[in-house]
Amino acid sequence: GLFSTEDDPSTMEARPPVVTIMGHVDHGKTSLLDAVRKAKVATGEAGGITQHIGAYQVEQDGNKITFIDTPGHAAFSQMRARGAKSTDIVILVVAADDGVMPQTKEAIAHAKAADVPIIVAINKMDKPGADPNRVRTELLSEELVTESMGGDVIDVEVSAKSGQNLDKLLEMILLQSEVLELQANPDRTAEGIVIEAQLDRGRGPVATVLVQKGTLKPGDILVAGSEWGRVRAMLDENGKQVSEAGPAKPVEVLGFQGTPAAGDMVAVVENEARAREITDYRQRQIREKASVVASGTRGSLEQMMNRLQETGRKEFPLVLKADVQGSAEAIAQALNELGTDEVGARILLSGVGGITESDITLAAASKAPILGFNVRANKQAREAAQRDGIEIRYYNVIYDLVDDIKAAMSGLLSPERRETFLGNAEIKEIFHISKVGKVAGCLVTEGVVERGAQVRLIRDDVVIHEGELGTLKRFKDEVKSVESGQECGMNFTKYQDMRPGDVIECFRVEHIKRTL
Ligand code: GDP
Repeated sequence: GLFSTEDDPSTMEARPPVVTIMGHVDHGKTSLLDAVRKAKVATGEAGGITQHIGAYQVEQDGNKITFIDTPGHAAFSQMRARGAKSTDIVILVVAADDGVMPQTKEAIAHAKAADVPIIVAINKMDKPGADPNRVRTELLSEELVTESMGGDVIDVEVSAKSGQNLDKLLEMILLQSEVLELQANPDRTAEGIVIEAQLDRGRGPVATVLVQKGTLKPGDILVAGSEWGRVRAMLDENGKQVSEAGPAKPVEVLGFQGTPAAGDMVAVVENEARAREITDYRQRQIREKASVVASGTRGSLEQMMNRLQETGRKEFPLVLKADVQGSAEAIAQALNELGTDEVGARILLSGVGGITESDITLAAASKAPILGFNVRANKQAREAAQRDGIEIRYYNVIYDLVDDIKAAMSGLLSPERRETFLGNAEIKEIFHISKVGKVAGCLVTEGVVERGAQVRLIRDDVVIHEGELGTLKRFKDEVKSVESGQECGMNFTKYQDMRPGDVIECFRVEHIKRTL
């Protein structure tokens, strides 16, 4: 893998729950967040002012709880759409004098889609018109059955105004959290998500990062979406500098080069060069929205859909390989959510790293297609896929992958772009040639390399550039093609950072009209 691996169960430790407050407008989301913060955030120095950093942590009976300080399901779902799972528990605020309203229903739908447990906070209990039982009854129609109605959804009667039962609400959060057995490994390079970010005039880009795994420290180099930075300072909700942030800890991070977006996944990488490679590529790819079918492997997805119709089978098997664990998890979650009663994805394997022959073997057993997110299949895997008729699809945008599978599920499969693999070359040496720039001295290891082909630069199985071949030279002459076993010189039209050991994949692209 690139920079993330599954954590060994023995490294896992209990971590605080992360909570988001949702509910109808004016039901008291902001008031509740403020009341909890005022009552529970320990201010640092005397007269310390709590500040808004997008999330805060409180302590209840020695246990921590993290609150995302941007109420509402819009932010929650925006994050989810970007593939981030930010929340363990949703607090659904319903005003006792108003009952279940349209946005209450929406919030329930969002929480259910994300498979996040709900705790109901029946708010404004101090008001004369408060009728908590009406709220409970109305929730039944939304299939939320509270404990007093014989179900298992926890509800707490609260008042953000008087502070009634705030402690009880926090206790219930901790109770629910225990059931969830939330764990993370604190002793690894940090991963997390951006809760919010903005460009601050004085301080530059400022991002509130919720650490989800590992421990973030000053000096760490991190990648968030298509931006990177070196942690210059980390501040907590009191504006106090902290020297480390473990799982579920939100911190304001200074030191990003650009401003990331809410929902971007954050990962610490080994050095600045790696951070640049990853974000340069992502920035260039950001506007490209094409999905690709690897050559010679098309068909199984359609066959499978047919089979699905013939036998009435409800499950749609897939193998998923991605560049980092965060992407794999996000995609797996998005695919799981596509499922309906009639049809759903069954992910046979969700892994990190290049596509190997063993992935094909696994896929072949179920005639499953393989989805590669920012990774490629090696030679053995491609050959095996061709032999076994296994479809490999490559993507670099999560939405495209999900859209494609959604289309496949509804029987509307047709790619916009099909790719034909030409060959691979390995870079042996880099030459600096005046006026031309860098030229890679390569050995063609497979197939053929052709002038004008599309190219991908692959380092450690991960794509770091996609573009066009500039020069193709054999000795001093520009040539049309170079075959396997021969040496050649290559450069790209818009990229210079090639290195010995990198692999250049050459391919041609055919554009296909979408037929529905
Ligand atoms: P939001 O839109 O859900 O964030 O709701 P707000 O927190 O802005 O609250 C909307 C209005 O309800 C404000 O005028 C609050 O002062 C009031 N409010 C919120 N919680 C309570 C409460 O527990 N009791 C009473 N009486 N009013 C409340």
